[in-house]
Amino acid sequence: MKIANIKGRLSLVVGDNKAVDVETASSGKFSSNIQDIYSHWDEFLAWAATAPTADATPFAATDAGSPTPAPSQVFAIGLNYAMHAAESGFSVPEAPVVFTKYQSCITGPTGDITLPVGGDTDWETELVIVIGKTASNVSEADAWKYVAGLTLGQDISERITQRSGPAPQFGLGKSFANFGPTGPFVVTPDEFADRDNISLGCSINGVEMQNGSTGDFIFSVSQLISKLSAIVTLRAGDIIFTGTPSGVGMGRTPQVYLKPGDVLETWAENIGAMRHVFHAA
Ligand code: ZN
Repeated sequence: MKIANIKGRLSLVVGDNKAVDVETASSGKFSSNIQDIYSHWDEFLAWAATAPTADATPFAATDAGSPTPAPSQVFAIGLNYAMHAAESGFSVPEAPVVFTKYQSCITGPTGDITLPVGGDTDWETELVIVIGKTASNVSEADAWKYVAGLTLGQDISERITQRSGPAPQFGLGKSFANFGPTGPFVVTPDEFADRDNISLGCSINGVEMQNGSTGDFIFSVSQLISKLSAIVTLRAGDIIFTGTPSGVGMGRTPQVYLKPGDVLETWAENIGAMRHVFHAA
């Protein structure tokens, strides 16, 4: 099952480019607010399994907003692929490296992004976990029961801000306006041939920059949920950016950063594609 935020309304996706408006099709049982649905996930799954889809109507890619527009918490994992840890100059971590992207940076799967003045703005293609129920002290064996679905994200990062200060902190440099695109769909785990081995990547102006697989994670989805929930309470609708494969601009020789006019296209197997255009401030 796939959901999308079509023209600001929770929609059930039928095929690749048709959708049913959930509030209308459910006669008001579920509201049009997509962020609210994660708090009613099991009830919604039961309804969606037999939802009427004959009236599905086509939508354009640009009609889709973020399917996770207002999570109460946004977690992000650093260095979760060995080759990315190496290109960043770090050894493989023994525990997940965790930081946050502030919620106001979340944006949709298409649109324009402004480059900060004087910055080194980089791309990070990532699988994003969407939490489907309150999770505290969850075992690895039970972790997938707490996942509503998976979506695609870009952890856009301004490297100078990210690494500034005597004790570098990641949150601000990764939270400029529109630095947290997610979408186009949230897809339930059962829709994947192997939910622990999903290919993903990105290109800039048609040139491939990243091409990886979540099968190469250092910490799996189950391990991340277990380790995070041992400390913090995860809430329905919260999201976890799971780390990026190798191929970011910072890890290249010479380093490459986004410039005005660049088109960043990001994709993940079975989830879909995002397209963003970068502009000067
Ligand atoms: Zn990242």
